[in-house]
Amino acid sequence: MLPYHGSVMAKQTHSHTDAMDPAFLEDVVSGEVRLSAEQGLQLFHEMPLAALGRWADRRCRAMHGDHLRTYVIDRNINYTNVCTARCTFCAFRRDLDASDAYTLETDEILAKISELEAIGGTQILMQGGMNPELPLSWYESLLGTIGARHPDVHIHAFSPPEVVEFVHFFDPPGEDFRAKVRWVLHKLQAAGLKSIPGGGGEIFADAVRRKIGLGKCDAEAWLTVMHVAHELGMNTSATMMFGHIEGFADRIHHMSLVRDWQDRSIEDFGADGGGRYMAFISWPFQRENTPLGRLPDWDASDGPFPGDVVAQLDGGGEKSTHPEFGRSARTSGASDYLRTQAISRLMLDNIYSIGASWVTMGPHVGQLALSFGASDMGSVMMEENVVSAAGTTYCLSEPILCHLIRDAGFTPAQRDNAYDILAVHDTDAAPDLQVEDWSALRRGRLHIESAESDTPVAITIDSN
Ligand code: SF4
Repeated sequence: MLPYHGSVMAKQTHSHTDAMDPAFLEDVVSGEVRLSAEQGLQLFHEMPLAALGRWADRRCRAMHGDHLRTYVIDRNINYTNVCTARCTFCAFRRDLDASDAYTLETDEILAKISELEAIGGTQILMQGGMNPELPLSWYESLLGTIGARHPDVHIHAFSPPEVVEFVHFFDPPGEDFRAKVRWVLHKLQAAGLKSIPGGGGEIFADAVRRKIGLGKCDAEAWLTVMHVAHELGMNTSATMMFGHIEGFADRIHHMSLVRDWQDRSIEDFGADGGGRYMAFISWPFQRENTPLGRLPDWDASDGPFPGDVVAQLDGGGEKSTHPEFGRSARTSGASDYLRTQAISRLMLDNIYSIGASWVTMGPHVGQLALSFGASDMGSVMMEENVVSAAGTTYCLSEPILCHLIRDAGFTPAQRDNAYDILAVHDTDAAPDLQVEDWSALRRGRLHIESAESDTPVAITIDSN
């Protein structure tokens, strides 16, 4: 059974209420009223960070209690780096004929899953570039083989942009885009796909998306793929990558769209065993090795940030509104990350989990995120190739992850993809309480270790 309970369709908005009014925020915390987009933006601009964290933490505790905070053990498998898109924030993609282009063999993927199971892992997060050389039969065969050899491993795979390209590559039957998506997802589900990760969300507003996601699907297609997945009974997650050319209103618009489509999915399919968004994870753009990262930093002395001038809460901002739009970046530090995550907890009243994404900000900011609305520390993963290609180097083991959760005042609990609890670490047998020599667990950089070790022990986190 899904862990989310409560009516989402009966939520009221009090759009004319001052969002800073404590009595109003008490009702947001209890889940009785819903923040409007305007109120979300007001909090962004007006509420001090510490106060915002306190309200988000109270909302999180109202939903999840004071005791457990979760994590999952999975492995990020990037099955190919060949990609037809050219996202300007991506350091991972390669052209088909590049010397370092790759597509993993099935045996390589199976070996990675065996290593995952050896450390108690329960799922794989499998995503790739959009590789036009791989037919549907390749995916069906891969999923079927994984299911036969590793029947207990949950396959969480193929983000919406990949599914949209599957529709283009495979030319499935169907009278419209939605029907074609349904055909493709049904085939993949029948072969063993269990749920869909929220990769490729970035920022939904068109003006931003057209600048940073060259060749990647638009918001309507992204959200439609997820709605079809929900129709087929699969759960999904949603993500947002911020801290580049977007305005603050774009972030609120992004959250609002996720919330609206979640309402739709629950209303349309909830009574029939449909799926839904289980989690929202947001993280700041990582600039190293990326074209987008070469943009100059916005200089506040030049006037308002162009992204804020262009951004509209309805997503309808036009790039022509400001001649400098997209020509400078406003990157995020820890406080902007925590502010954004806290607002996501308060805005997304119909989404069960907010995931901390410490992989981009470091473990201690991730730990702090547990006091800013996050209920989940994400994945203990055995490898990660996409974010690390853009310069992220943090890696943690399961004991360190448990230690961070416990040190933040909670009991660590391992979960599965459905957010059901697999193990509560409240005894001396807990992974962190077994460690006698922490120095042995302070390992080096993830992408160096994962490239050089046959059996990687380095662990990093960023689940979507
Ligand atoms: S982010 Fe994904 S879709 Fe975009 S270029 Fe990189 S691999 Fe391709």
